Amino acid sequence: MKTAKLFLFFSLAVSGYAQTAASSKEVDAVYPAAHDLYIDLHQNPELSSHETQTAAKLAARLRSLGYEVTEGVGGTGVVAILKNGAGPTVMLRSELDALPVEEKTGLPFASKVHAQDDSGHDVPVAHACGHDLHMAALVATADILAHSKQSWHGTLMLIGQPAEETISGAKRMIDDGLFTRFPKPAVGVALHVGNDLPAGQVGITPGIYNTNADSLRITIYGKGGHGAAPHATIDPIVIAARTILALQTIVSREVKPGEMAVVTVGYVRAGTKNNIIPDQAELGLTVRTYKGDVRKQVLTAINRIAKAEALAGGAQQEPLIEHYESTDSVYNDPGLAERLRAPLEAALGKENVITTEPITPSEGYAFFIEQGVPSLYMSLGGADPQKYAESKNTGVMLPYNHSPYFAPDVDPALHSGIKAEVAVLRNLLNGASQ
Ligand SMILES: [Zn+2]
Ligand SMILES: [Zn+2]
Repeated sequence: MKTAKLFLFFSLAVSGYAQTAASSKEVDAVYPAAHDLYIDLHQNPELSSHETQTAAKLAARLRSLGYEVTEGVGGTGVVAILKNGAGPTVMLRSELDALPVEEKTGLPFASKVHAQDDSGHDVPVAHACGHDLHMAALVATADILAHSKQSWHGTLMLIGQPAEETISGAKRMIDDGLFTRFPKPAVGVALHVGNDLPAGQVGITPGIYNTNADSLRITIYGKGGHGAAPHATIDPIVIAARTILALQTIVSREVKPGEMAVVTVGYVRAGTKNNIIPDQAELGLTVRTYKGDVRKQVLTAINRIAKAEALAGGAQQEPLIEHYESTDSVYNDPGLAERLRAPLEAALGKENVITTEPITPSEGYAFFIEQGVPSLYMSLGGADPQKYAESKNTGVMLPYNHSPYFAPDVDPALHSGIKAEVAVLRNLLNGASQ
């Protein structure tokens, strides 16, 4: 951490930003290949931890650009290094995975892919989170930087991270020696496309960028029997229903007004037939918070309510509460956010660099920050500007990431993604001090 801070201080002292923006000639030269890659990835999405073809495509492109590429890091992860003299190591990260979502965008290149998920079910697969756009931008940026080595110095580290959607890939890459087998970056950068901003814009959120995420599974144990003889049973469905409603009071009654907290029950599973009372019911929860103390408060309350409702319903066994997935919020280094605003404005136009509020989804990127890599995670506008303006007028939200209808406005979004990445990397890699 200390070295990173020193490095930031030093660079702040010497950097301007005039030379960091990619010229339109540079972007035009790489754009057609980036767009082709986007279409190819979009049409061939792969589920989390199964991104073998995706990783191979990324690795091949980066290798052909002269990067030293290692595959199979933490599963299907890709690490590509380009050394260019003395200077800091800076990391740019993209995710590799798609989602079990049936694409309904109606686009001519919409995904028609199906695959088996980890429990053996046939599921549709689509890049409904835009990771295909992140990969296309990363490869284009890699291309521009490989062809302009006079504009920067140091070590550029590009990573293709698997299994972001299951919050496991970042940790697996770290456990597989991401920061020991390869140089540990002084700074990390990533971006995410979404419909929160119009395409052409980039959002910066200094400090907390997104939420702590916790996934919980609650199994409520009752006593099954005939639907016509409820007196001989302990109905776990009724206990589940009461639990779901009682959980709603955590945010409305327990958390201090103004503090951010979300408790969502995303699924309820119980029963097979209308006249059978089942033995047990299962709830799947996602919990989102910004602050650590609020996170603890909400998790404690869930535990208390689930147990108390089971007791109230006469359950003879306590519910099983499994905390099976969690990630911390992504923290954007405020100094870094401040420093990178100028090169972003120079590359995209002052009016296109917006200060944005923290968002509620979460991100496996937090694991890299936890390892002591100060970072900037940017929001990349993906909405068709006209549709964005209409949605602001009507109040009807555009499809959010993970929706079957999510479709970024590719040309302006990909162009600005490339420009943002090149500007930021050149600045961090001391290009401006040349
Ligand atoms: Zn996602
Ligand atoms: Zn995503």
